[in-house]
Parts: sequence; structure tokens; C-alpha cells
Amino acid sequence: MSSLAVVFDVDNTLTPPREPMRAEMVEALRRIRVPFHLAAGSDLDLVVEQVVRPLECAGVQCSFDAFVCNGAERYRCQIRDGAEITSVSCFRLRDHLGERTFNELLRALEAVLAEPEFRLDRSGVPVMGERIIDRRSMINVAPMGRPARMTPEAYAQRQAFVSFDSKSGYRLRLLERLRRVIEPYRESHGLRVTLGGQTSFDIVVEGYDKRFPLRTLLSEGHRPIVYVGDALFAEGNDRAVLEFISEWEGPGTCPVEAIAVRDWTDTLAQMQSRGWLRDKGER
Ligand SMILES: [Mg+2]
Repeated sequence: MSSLAVVFDVDNTLTPPREPMRAEMVEALRRIRVPFHLAAGSDLDLVVEQVVRPLECAGVQCSFDAFVCNGAERYRCQIRDGAEITSVSCFRLRDHLGERTFNELLRALEAVLAEPEFRLDRSGVPVMGERIIDRRSMINVAPMGRPARMTPEAYAQRQAFVSFDSKSGYRLRLLERLRRVIEPYRESHGLRVTLGGQTSFDIVVEGYDKRFPLRTLLSEGHRPIVYVGDALFAEGNDRAVLEFISEWEGPGTCPVEAIAVRDWTDTLAQMQSRGWLRDKGER
């Protein structure tokens, strides 16, 4: 038996960037009538902060799978009286590359961030926290660093970076540079680099990106699958979904549909217009 499943990107699709879900979205997920799952660029901690806690605090009862770190780590989230999260599967980039190659790659990434063209000294953007983050299934490269907590300073830093980037084209230049760095590992290990969110880059293994939740859910009998994301554009971290659709070799037409949204309010409008939400009072 097949059944529709909806897969939501998290950041800027269900939430404002890096912030928790707003009450309207929490209410929408309370009233959603179709099974849904998450495919997040970030790690589990951020998804808990952005999605799980707000649902838990509002007393919403639901269960879904969260595919985090760009899709390659799968957790089951059950929210009843409190949230219970269990690991289902996890791909590790360090094992995939081997210790030596993995460390060689980390050093190459550090060297790029130290190149005069990519240092942020004169940009007015302070660097805070770790810049190369091992997220087990992927590496996140954040030139301005990733502060441990989203304090007011961290939000201000983020805004400063976004505005600097839009004026200077910094990230697109760095993307080209990172492409050259990972080129030796592209054929041999399937590495690829995409823009991650608004400030960083994700280094992932082809197939262990947002294709992974699609492949997995299809193999478990869910179809059609509707994917909702804000970054389906070229270089965006949802792009792998469009590639999955265009590379589909059958049988039949691809059972995955992708919906591009502007932000979480647009997602809410899609949920309403597609009839995914129960009316208030309807059980
Ligand atoms: Mg997003």
C-alpha cells in the first residue's frame, strides 16, 4: 500500500532562519493530516531547538523522522508526553574517506580559509566559534565561524555577514575555490560542495545528501513524496532533490515532487492550499 508523505526542509522553510518555529507553524503541524518528515541541513541539536521543543512546549503529539546533517543521519522523533528521539541510521564521512584522507581534507579547508582573499579581517564581520565543523556525515565550512549559542551578538554577526556577502559576492568566489579543493575527491569518493543556509558551505557525499531521505522513504513504500524547501535553486542545499527527480530512471515517472517556497509563511500557504491541514475542530 502506498501513501503520500511530505518532507520539509527546516531552516527558512518551517522556521525563520536559525530561529524556532513560530506559533502559527506549530499549530499547522498540530493540524497536519498527512505523514511528514524533516530533511535538515543542520545537525540534530538545532532541529531540536527549532522544531522539536516548540512542538513539545505546545503539547502537540506527533511522530516523524528527522534526516539531519543534510539528510544523511536519521532519527525518529516521537512527541507524546515529552520528546523521545532515537537514532535510526548514520553515515560517517570520516569512515567513508578513511582517517588519513579525512584529515588531509580538513587541513586543505583550513588553508583555504587562511588565504588572504578569504580572510574576513577587513570585512567588518567578526569571526566567532569553530569554522570547520565535523558533522559526522558531512563537513560544514563556516568562514565567519559558528557561535555555540545564538546570542544577540551572534545574530548581529550573521546579519553583518549576509550583507557583506551580498555586496561582495564572497560566498560564490569561495564556492569556486572549495570546488577546486575537493576536485581530487570528487571521482574517488563522491564529494561535492553546496552552499549551506545563508552563511556556510556543506561538503557532502553524493547520495548522502537530501537524496537519502527520498530514496529511503520510497524504499519503505511511501509515494508520492512531496518535498518542500526554500533552497532548490542552483547551489542551494535542497538542490539535490531536483537532481534526484531529473535523474529518476523509472519505473514510471518520478514519484517525488518538489515545491519551492520563499519562507515559512509561504510553506504555511502551501499546506493550506494543498489541503494538508484539518480544519480547526475537525479530528
Ligand atoms: Mg532551508
